[in-house]
Amino acid sequence: MGHLQSGQHIQKRCTNCFHDKMEIIKVSERDFNEKVVYMLWIQCPECGTNDSELVPENLSFS
Ligand SMILES: [Zn+2]
Repeated sequence: MGHLQSGQHIQKRCTNCFHDKMEIIKVSERDFNEKVVYMLWIQCPECGTNDSELVPENLSFS
């Protein structure tokens, strides 16, 4: 658990090959009024499909 950073894997299904984990390749921070969210740029390690995901600041992955 801990801070989101590139190289970590998150549980998310690939839309192309349905692999159940995606690798974070880049994290950028976005401010929405008083809320901070993270924009995750993710990639499937199996087929290379790129995707993105917005997550709230307090979300952590095990
Ligand atoms: Zn895939």
